[in-house]
Amino acid sequence: MSRPPVTVAPVIVGGGPAGAAAGIALLQAGVRAVLLERLDVPGDTICGGFLSWRTVERIAALGIDPDSLGGHRVSDVALYVGGKEQGATLPAPALGVSRQRLDSILLDAAQGRGVDVRRGQTVRALGDADLTLADGNIVPWDSLFLATGKSDLRGVSRPRGGTGGDPELGLRLRLAPSPALTRMVGGRIELHLFDRGYIGLVMQEDGSVNACMAVRKSRLADAGGTPARLFARLADEMPALADRLADMPADPQIDAIGNVPYGWRATDTRTGLFRLGDQAAVIPSVAGEGVGIALASAQSAVAHWLSDGAKGAHPHQRAFARHVARPVALAGLVKGLGSRPALARALLALPGAAQIVARLTRV
Ligand SMILES: Cc1cc2nc3c(=O)[nH]c(=O)nc-3n(C[C@H](O)[C@H](O)[C@H](O)COP(=O)(O)OP(=O)(O)OC[C@H]3O[C@@H](n4cnc5c(N)ncnc54)[C@H](O)[C@@H]3O)c2cc1C
Repeated sequence: MSRPPVTVAPVIVGGGPAGAAAGIALLQAGVRAVLLERLDVPGDTICGGFLSWRTVERIAALGIDPDSLGGHRVSDVALYVGGKEQGATLPAPALGVSRQRLDSILLDAAQGRGVDVRRGQTVRALGDADLTLADGNIVPWDSLFLATGKSDLRGVSRPRGGTGGDPELGLRLRLAPSPALTRMVGGRIELHLFDRGYIGLVMQEDGSVNACMAVRKSRLADAGGTPARLFARLADEMPALADRLADMPADPQIDAIGNVPYGWRATDTRTGLFRLGDQAAVIPSVAGEGVGIALASAQSAVAHWLSDGAKGAHPHQRAFARHVARPVALAGLVKGLGSRPALARALLALPGAAQIVARLTRV
């Protein structure tokens, strides 16, 4: 494949999975990008911490040994609705890994191989041919890989709305390692479905369990308005969840993120602007495939950039939107069914539902 002449190095904004993967893929093709990341060290992004078997394969394709993540092996999925459970074996082993661990390994790999990673650099504004950093410095670009994930940049924000005036929130609670949790959750990804939301549980590299929830704001309000009250209320309603939350401290630390635009896809872009990861498509997190989308979008964007340069942004965005349409729609359907109690019970009554959901929501 003939590569476009590089007059200005491609710029990547954001050093999460999408940005780091784009940097590595460009380097694999002999192109050294500049990667701007606002944090000095990766934070622990709100995320379920589940890496699907497909995502694990994509990490290996970047030349990173998945074993080096030291993740907790996950071989089964279990769906819970009310007092009922349905389990299934995953098509191939997945991993439970904290985002701090994953993001550090990916970004260190990018930097170690030669990507020009500049940490502690926050992009404030994006112009047509340059961008402005928080310190006032200007960086020119003619091909930009937008990988800011959950944060939008002014001028290229993702639309809000489409949630019927009842936004969706993400909440995350870390449960300390214990033999009881290992016995209950070890080796499984658990999805506890409830009215207007779900909680996913997975064990991570240090034996702690990530309890990550996506929930409508109205449900939080009904439970008393605070995340801790909502967790307590859900434990009252769901016996299996109560067992897992038994050692939750009285005043737990719960991280939150607001207004997650689940289901959004960028169907086009402007010349030179390649959207990646959550800036390209936001799959409902019940699928546990957001990191997979981040890595797949980086691969697509770099392939289109290598064949068409800045003009490749349009075909990348259109093709990627088509590529992820089915898993995003199916994950939306599962989210919709799962968060309505009567429909969730009907879903669980279907033989093989857990395995079908696990398979069809992959990218
Ligand atoms: C509740 C919840 C649970 C989830 N669970 C899972 C799961 O179990 N498995 C899964 O695969 N996915 C899950 N996801 C989805 C997953 O978190 C995202 O899809 C994934 O993080 C997207 O990666 P990214 O690289 O696009 O963005 P991010 O991971 O958000 O990374 C963006 C990076 O850009 C940097 N940045 C942001 N703004 C700027 C700026 N202005 N200047 C410079 N740098 C900037 C940030 O510091 C960050 O490092 C979940 C999401 C939610 C909300």
